[in-house]
Amino acid sequence: MRRDVKVTKKLNIKDIGTHSDQLTQVSIDDLMPLPPPYDRLEDQPGWKGLTGAQRDKFDASLDGFIAVGFPKPATSEEEEKLVESFLSGLQKLLSKENNWTFLQQLTLSLEHCAKCQTCNDACPIYEASGQNDLYRPTYRSEVLRRIIAKYIEPGGKFFGWLKHGDIDLNWQTVSRLLELSYRCTLCRRCAQTCPIGVDNGLITHELRKIFSMEMGIAPKEIHEKGSVLQLAVGSSTGMNSLAVKDNIEFIDDDMSELTGIPVKTVWDKEGADVLLLHNAGEILAWPENPGAFAIILEAAGISWTLSSDLAAYDAINYGLWYDDAQFARVALKHVEAAKKLKVKKIVVGECGHAHKALMIIADRLLTGDNAIPRESALVLLRDIVMSGKLQLDPSRNDFPVTLHDPCNMVRLMGIVEPQREILRKIAPQFREMTPHGVNNYCCGGGSGFAIMSPFNFQDWRLSISGRMKLKQIVEAFADCPRPEINKYVCAPCSNCKGQIRDLFRYYGVWDKQRIMYGGIAELIVNAMTNVKHPFIQWEFR
Ligand code: SF4
Ligand code: SF4
Repeated sequence: MRRDVKVTKKLNIKDIGTHSDQLTQVSIDDLMPLPPPYDRLEDQPGWKGLTGAQRDKFDASLDGFIAVGFPKPATSEEEEKLVESFLSGLQKLLSKENNWTFLQQLTLSLEHCAKCQTCNDACPIYEASGQNDLYRPTYRSEVLRRIIAKYIEPGGKFFGWLKHGDIDLNWQTVSRLLELSYRCTLCRRCAQTCPIGVDNGLITHELRKIFSMEMGIAPKEIHEKGSVLQLAVGSSTGMNSLAVKDNIEFIDDDMSELTGIPVKTVWDKEGADVLLLHNAGEILAWPENPGAFAIILEAAGISWTLSSDLAAYDAINYGLWYDDAQFARVALKHVEAAKKLKVKKIVVGECGHAHKALMIIADRLLTGDNAIPRESALVLLRDIVMSGKLQLDPSRNDFPVTLHDPCNMVRLMGIVEPQREILRKIAPQFREMTPHGVNNYCCGGGSGFAIMSPFNFQDWRLSISGRMKLKQIVEAFADCPRPEINKYVCAPCSNCKGQIRDLFRYYGVWDKQRIMYGGIAELIVNAMTNVKHPFIQWEFR
């Protein structure tokens, strides 16, 4: 950090519009303490500073971290254009014609906050940061309210400040709001706590939409390398349909060898009962998960298939986090594939945001003959495990297991019990985290963060947004902390697994404590008596 930077944890709303080198700073010694063996300050991983060239080119004046990387405007005309396009996007966001999907929820949340600040304590980012004002759930909402009152509402220039307080909208306000919209995981823990039901996560989501849909600004990882690549090639992993089939063939071979039973994935089977949509990241990073699904579905006698159609072998829909149009394009591809194959239903694999995207948010889009039934894989797996169709021996899973609740599936969809019913049946040392279920904390990788590591953002997401999750996991195994005992965090979501993997690497969790992470399908196969044991390999990747 430059020596002339003046920073503080205590901020006023107005400060966001005050020109300065940096609005606030979080230091490692401000952060929420971690339990042993991660409690010593000298053992905290150091943070990567930005280079002088990066600071000169990009605006890092929010908190010294960069998630999006927006180049500073070079001229006063560019500065004005930035403000104008932001205001134009904001106008559209507040019009029914342009924002029929979310306008009502947005307006209700903007108009009804009592400013009681009850929601602060619910936010893992605010708490983990050492209660830095910038990360209060309400900070960005209060900024937006002031901008609307002053710059959008009639007479606002003269009297707008009377409503919520004054604010100056300049290029740095806009640029800081852009970065600030990527300091929240959209976990909605704050909304759950609010006595009025104000949804600050939704307000953050809507802000991201202005930047993407009006101004063409979004993080590369979720836009260019995410939804754009998925729609162009077929998957955000870059796999086209030939590549994905090749990869699945390798997985089938590996799984057959590992389990001693023949595994053969079915492609493009017309009339199947189930079209299974995996997050394609599983196929490359955690192949044992799609492999386990194939084993379980075959053993249960389910008629199932994957689709090799464009975008239909990748359940991801990153549009959910930042852009309604990209969201709709991907959701329609998923449904078109299901209609083409005439399947009875779509089942979404272990991917939280894909669950919420296709099962909840797409509801208003998928009407008429697009309204194909959609179901969670957790429900299907629970039904299979409870049906008695699989021969299961829980003693094969006799090691400590805890469960991570992905926000999208659990808090935001209410899928709470199916995964627990499975674990109670197959994992004798299952223990809950505190808190858990709908009160659980986000992994810290929600809303796209798990795949975002530009500039120095990885340090922020692993030190701050993932901090509460690491604490919860370590505390869940407080009775067996030593590395002599293998332990398993069941995280039935691809993005959560990515974040937990990165957290474990960052803090050396595998070496210090032998805590592994993985999905729920793998635990089921690990308990199947007709499968060579063990299925779970206990190798940290
Ligand atoms: S969002 Fe709700 S909890 Fe938070 S300050 Fe406003 S009224 Fe209070
Ligand atoms: S949605 Fe989650 S991360 Fe965002 S402000 Fe609310 S509690 Fe914090």
